[in-house]
Amino acid sequence: MTGIIKHFHDVRLVLEGKRLIEDEAKYRIICIGAALIHVVFTICMYIMHADIMVYYNFCIVVAYFFMGLVLSARSKRRLLLGLLFGEIVFHSALASFMLGIDCEFMLYTVSLIPMAFYLTNTATKKTRRTNFAVMLSSFVVLAYLFVSIIHPSQAYYDLSAYGSIKTGIRFFNMFIAFMLQLSFSLLFALEAQYLSRLLENENVKLTEDANVDPLTKLWNRRSLSNAVTEAINTMEHIDVFSVVMMDIDDFKKVNDTYGHDVGDEVLVKLAEIIKEEVRNGDYSCRWGGEEFLLFAHGPRNEVQYVAERILERLKSISFEDRKGGNFSVTLTAGVAEFKYGAQLRNVIEAADKRLYYGKTHGKNQIVSAS
Ligand code: GH3
Ligand code: MG
Ligand code: MG
Repeated sequence: MTGIIKHFHDVRLVLEGKRLIEDEAKYRIICIGAALIHVVFTICMYIMHADIMVYYNFCIVVAYFFMGLVLSARSKRRLLLGLLFGEIVFHSALASFMLGIDCEFMLYTVSLIPMAFYLTNTATKKTRRTNFAVMLSSFVVLAYLFVSIIHPSQAYYDLSAYGSIKTGIRFFNMFIAFMLQLSFSLLFALEAQYLSRLLENENVKLTEDANVDPLTKLWNRRSLSNAVTEAINTMEHIDVFSVVMMDIDDFKKVNDTYGHDVGDEVLVKLAEIIKEEVRNGDYSCRWGGEEFLLFAHGPRNEVQYVAERILERLKSISFEDRKGGNFSVTLTAGVAEFKYGAQLRNVIEAADKRLYYGKTHGKNQIVSAS
């Protein structure tokens, strides 16, 4: 019982677009729902003395409970779907012959089409098969046409004494059949929306993973190159940018002395400083290892100040090692100007040369002239 309540709770979450209904729950709800509908039929048939239909419906109630409680728990989805289709088509045809086609039992067969597509296309396991739904739907169409053509003008049971019950059954059938169509179509739409939202989120995450350095959360070299190329393409004659190539001094020693984790903390901290110091519309990335690149609006001397600020802030930080001691780090940077028409590769090379000059001339400095 609690299992069934849980399934209805799942349906609520699906209606709110928060999850999919599990395969087992889908089949269980459908079979239990079908059993309850057949209980109504059994009572009506009993009142109208339609004996064959009473026996048939009674057996089917038992069968549906068995299918819902036992078979749905086993991985027999195709068998269940086949049995459901077989029973509903057979029962609709039988009831049309026994009680009259005007009782609208055949409408249930129409509900099977959205049900087949819903069940086969939202299956959570590897049983997603549209072909099977098309096959079952074709069978339904043929059965519907066949029964419409060959049904006798006079039903087996004469229900003229039970006019109001017959009308009740007719409206009940119409109501339930349309509700089933609506429900399966709605659930299909909601689950499809959920799956496409899931996919969108996954795409956003994948794009982020591909563009962002996981440690520092700065862009990686590839994404910066793309963004900078775009900025260069929309550049005007009067625009000037500058490239800053930064490299932490003696970082290998930091790792060797304090450990890789502490080294990572230094990288994260420097990335935070860079993010805070760059202006809107400037680009920064982790170029690789302990190297960072800045592509900023403005001439060389102006952007040099940004780099100086980054260096000063980095130097002022007192990092803690794992033994309770403290240390600080410095960096060296090379700055080069990027004017309209220049080649990005050449400008980065120029910044790199200045960085190298700084490294070989005492480190801990920003070099902006050769
Ligand atoms: P220099 O002052 O000349 O730049 O010397 P350096 O020691 O900083 O340069 P070197 O190229 O010899 O060493 C760079 C070190 O950076 C070596 C490498 O293990 C370390 N490194 C690269 N990526 C990471 C990282 O993601 N985390 C940590 N902790 N260390 C890294
Ligand atoms: Mg380096
Ligand atoms: Mg270094």
